[in-house]
Amino acid sequence: MIMAEECTFCRIIAGQIPATIIHSDDRTFAFLDINPANKGHTLVLTRKHYENLNEIPANELGSLFEAVQKISKAIEKGLKAEGYNILMNNKRPAGQIIDHAHIHIIPRFKGDEMQVRLGWAYKKYEQGEDKTISEKIKKHL
Ligand code: 5GP
Ligand code: ZN
Repeated sequence: MIMAEECTFCRIIAGQIPATIIHSDDRTFAFLDINPANKGHTLVLTRKHYENLNEIPANELGSLFEAVQKISKAIEKGLKAEGYNILMNNKRPAGQIIDHAHIHIIPRFKGDEMQVRLGWAYKKYEQGEDKTISEKIKKHL
């Protein structure tokens, strides 16, 4: 699927919904998030419609991450940001609302009020549980 008719982000790329565009090339696209965590919060995505990271073909990942890096550097320079967070929500339990895979770049400033770690209470592994869990993951690599 190249464009999903009902997809807000496909419609932004097609120029059917207005957005503040930051970057556009033959494979990737970026615009400001309408509800920024900090000013300059940018969403970077493939032009083609893929629902989440799992769906993006390997040969599109390079250009996507190149765009993320390039825009992150521009955000740092242009906004005098002192750092930035890269965030990607994949599927509903992870907070994904728009089903067109996208990467958030959030500029960070000393003392800003953004709390990426809110809700991230540390959990503890039982004895040996970290090994069991790592094995469960590695089995599928
Ligand atoms: P998700 O939770 O899916 O990772 O985040 C979707 C993001 O898209 C949210 O941060 C939301 O503010 C942003 N967003 C949703 N609709 C629009 C829109 O129509 N225009 C823009 N610029 N951003 C949007
Ligand atoms: Zn889409």
